[in-house]
Amino acid sequence: MIEVVSAERCVACNQCVRVCPTNVFDKGADGIPVIARQDDCQTCYICEVYCPVDALYVAPFADPLEAPPSEKELADGGVLGSWREIIGWGKGRTTLAELDTTPFIDRILPKRGS
Ligand code: SF4
Ligand code: SF4
Repeated sequence: MIEVVSAERCVACNQCVRVCPTNVFDKGADGIPVIARQDDCQTCYICEVYCPVDALYVAPFADPLEAPPSEKELADGGVLGSWREIIGWGKGRTTLAELDTTPFIDRILPKRGS
């Protein structure tokens, strides 16, 4: 479930507001998104991967029982932006799709080396 929007990192690009499939965010008066409907979050991570500055944290639990970690804990632990990095989103990274060797992958991606 979405837990944190870092006002310190956010550049108010509005990407997360636009891509969230369940309309969880509202655009704040200062352009920084507000988590307005947290219960509607589907823990899909789409907002996290679209955020260009790693300002969002989606907890892996749909219904967390504990308070979320602080922004400092997340940043110090290298958690902010880690999912985006793992799946290869971002300039100069290798996407998981490029590494996928399952036989059917060539049906949906251009042939490698072409
Ligand atoms: S994890 Fe998915 S559903 Fe939840 S806020 Fe982000 S984009 Fe929306
Ligand atoms: S995608 Fe990231 S930088 Fe853009 S508005 Fe959302 S939190 Fe801010």
